[in-house]
Amino acid sequence: MNRLWHNARLMTLEGRDLGIVEDGAVACEGGIVTYVGPRAGAPNAAETIDCEGRWVSPGLIDCHTHLVYAGNRAREFELRLEGASYEEIARAGGGIVSTMKATRAASEDDLVAASLSRLDALIAEGVTTVEIKSGYGLSLEAERRQLRAARRLGEERNVAVTTTFLGAHALPPEFSDRDAYVAHICDVMLPTLAAEGLVDAVDAFCEGIGFSPDQVARVFEAARTLGLPVKLHAEQLSDLGGASLAARYSALSADHLEHLSEIGIAAMAASGTVAVLLPGAFYFTREEKRPPVAALRAHGVPMALATDCNPGTSPLTSPLLAMNMAATLFRLTVDECIAGFTREAARALGRGDIGTLVPGKTCDLAIWDIGEPAELVYRMGFNPLHARIWRGQ
Ligand SMILES: [Zn+2]
Repeated sequence: MNRLWHNARLMTLEGRDLGIVEDGAVACEGGIVTYVGPRAGAPNAAETIDCEGRWVSPGLIDCHTHLVYAGNRAREFELRLEGASYEEIARAGGGIVSTMKATRAASEDDLVAASLSRLDALIAEGVTTVEIKSGYGLSLEAERRQLRAARRLGEERNVAVTTTFLGAHALPPEFSDRDAYVAHICDVMLPTLAAEGLVDAVDAFCEGIGFSPDQVARVFEAARTLGLPVKLHAEQLSDLGGASLAARYSALSADHLEHLSEIGIAAMAASGTVAVLLPGAFYFTREEKRPPVAALRAHGVPMALATDCNPGTSPLTSPLLAMNMAATLFRLTVDECIAGFTREAARALGRGDIGTLVPGKTCDLAIWDIGEPAELVYRMGFNPLHARIWRGQ
């Protein structure tokens, strides 16, 4: 069935800014956009929807989440507020190991049930595509359960889920040697899970407390052999040259980047690697070093935004609040914030079929009850979503 949304103010995101069309219309057939432009030129349709002057944008894309996990770290948060150190929390069984234990103990059904409320919160703010990483299982079986739960979430709800294998997130307790674990990832976990169709991309945590650039390079080589795109948690706590490494492997994105150097920025610009900024983690961990937004802009590196939804450092399920944080904490412009959750987020996932309103793309829309685009970024704890259209429905 073909549909037409008219009497709308469009943010098409085509080009470099918001691509605004006043008194516009969007037509779709079979879930694909067939027309975007002034209402006057719109085709006839079997069903027409009057948007009553509301704003219409592409559906939002959350391109970096760790949405599937069991348990939570609220108690750890409380201990930290009471003054406990990172070491004391780790000794008390907190940190990533506590999420790993809870996730390993959960069945696939448990993981789906625990994650649905988080997914629903994203959907309620207009998200139509979400990336979900593994990385709390850290064994073949538990990583498989996490990725299968992520795929199931995409069947339970009208939302597109793209999966990322993050086996190189932390060292599991059964391994004492990081190189041996990396070999297990490259030789067993990744090829097995990829063969099962559970892996759309491969990620790693390049950090002193994570994995070294050499170890990450081995994971990236294994991904390249399997024809899978890569992305990287890079330069969050220190500068190990992760962004340059990611660029060498033509990574889709390098994420976090608070400690990114000028060399890393130039490498990302040359390879077309997207900078995914995660203001929720910056805020929650009370980080003080800001990502080098002005330099990224000067070099023309595309900037995406995401919630980084995870239990330890960013228990955030609001893309709209992430936009506000990106503006207040990182000084992104309104246009950059909105593009960060649409056009640039699509780029960070290597997806040419979503993220802008253009004929031929998937008809994912968010319809907003706002007077101007800046309201999406300006308000806090405010959800003006009027309707959300996924694949034309
Ligand atoms: Zn992350």
